Amino acid sequence: MEKMLSQSIEDYLKAIYEVESSEEKVSTSALSEKLGVSPASVTSMVKKLSERKLITHKRYQGVKLTPAGRKIALEIIRHHRLVELYLKEALGVPWDQVHQEAEKWEHVLSEDLEDRIDKFLGYPVTDPHGSPIPRRDGTMIVRQCDALVDVEPDTLVKVVEVSDHDPELLRYLGGIGLYPETEMTVVSKQPFKGPIIVELTGKEYPIGRNAAKYILVEKANN
Ligand SMILES: [Zn+2]
Repeated sequence: MEKMLSQSIEDYLKAIYEVESSEEKVSTSALSEKLGVSPASVTSMVKKLSERKLITHKRYQGVKLTPAGRKIALEIIRHHRLVELYLKEALGVPWDQVHQEAEKWEHVLSEDLEDRIDKFLGYPVTDPHGSPIPRRDGTMIVRQCDALVDVEPDTLVKVVEVSDHDPELLRYLGGIGLYPETEMTVVSKQPFKGPIIVELTGKEYPIGRNAAKYILVEKANN
């Protein structure tokens, strides 16, 4: 890996990786929306990344990471998720605040510190939001799951992962005790795109459909 990759390049590669994981095609407009930058800046960065052979860009196929680009993206994601867990476990930073801090640390963490944090935490496989932490070789354990919004009522589920991008949502979920590995029952889906009602620890709580898109669950064994 090149020594002085700029933070901006790393942010682009990470964003491309994330869009690639959730959608079939990575368009420049999707990137511009995700990164909150103008389409013109995306176009110029896409050109730079193609020249460095970190991505390929074909008109009707969108942007794709090359193996070299993917390696860097996974390395940054590994930093990010390890740092999040370290901040929570070692320093007691609440789970709705670790993401913003990790956005900065991910770019400056040395390989030595990365190894020490990994060891200190006992070689963890998930971050505080349940997202898989890539191993050093870029592999990670990805669990098969569904968005809560797509689950039918009367189903017992286990929370796998919650998006870390909305601190307010994380505070709400933490407030009702909804964390990764929590089991809950989907009780009902209110009509007219109303909230989804879930039951956990004997109480019922509403979760808006939009929020429920960002909560990933798997069927629990009952
Ligand atoms: Zn995060």
